[in-house]
Amino acid sequence: MRLILLGAPGSGKGTMAADLVKEYQIPHISTGDIFRLNIKNKTPLGLEADTYIQQGALVPDSVTIAMVADRLAQPDCKTGFLLDGFPRTVEQAEALKVMLSACKCKMDAVVELELSDEEIIGRLTTRRVCSSCGKTYNLDSNRPLQDGICDACGGALYQRDDDKPDTIRQRLANYNRQTMPLSDYYKNQNLLVRINNEGEVGSSLPAVLAALRSRA
Ligand code: ADP
Ligand code: ZN
Repeated sequence: MRLILLGAPGSGKGTMAADLVKEYQIPHISTGDIFRLNIKNKTPLGLEADTYIQQGALVPDSVTIAMVADRLAQPDCKTGFLLDGFPRTVEQAEALKVMLSACKCKMDAVVELELSDEEIIGRLTTRRVCSSCGKTYNLDSNRPLQDGICDACGGALYQRDDDKPDTIRQRLANYNRQTMPLSDYYKNQNLLVRINNEGEVGSSLPAVLAALRSRA
């Protein structure tokens, strides 16, 4: 199964991604996670990406596309993968098309999660992330059992630097301008599965699975 997950920051992509990769037993390729890991380890890639990410801007295509091409060439991606955070622009989508044609494979579906801007801002300002395994929590709707500690691995929870109101607004504006066009792009290719994700965490998974099953 080859999937792309689309959705604004805060639309619930992280949770949906975790559920989908478990269901289909495929690797989860999150460009945001790869950048954050490189920033943490102070690699050259991390140092370059950090300045853009802190401003809520996109990392340049030259950097991002090469990184994804490299990742998709790994053996664990042979039979499938879930892309989360890529493509984010039509240019990246075109680059992905070239990568896929090189291996003579194609996407099965593009899942787009929908949520109002208002709901998104509310969710992001109360979001907390595990510094060790990346699992996300929400102080309103999805609290950890113990304050500040990850239920899954015991790691410390933190607030992402880019989950601050000004940066959030910038990221949403970028999403609407640069990434929203991908919705039509994939709709025209008959790949789009659009799901409203306003409900409780995890509650729209059955709808996504049903939609994917009916396409197979
Ligand atoms: P979110 O979806 O919550 O904004 P991500 O974790 O997907 O967060 O990404 C965090 C940041 O990493 C983005 O704001 C952007 O700066 C950078 N980034 C992630 N994916 C891409 C991409 N495909 N192209 C360019 N920049 C990216
Ligand atoms: Zn954890």
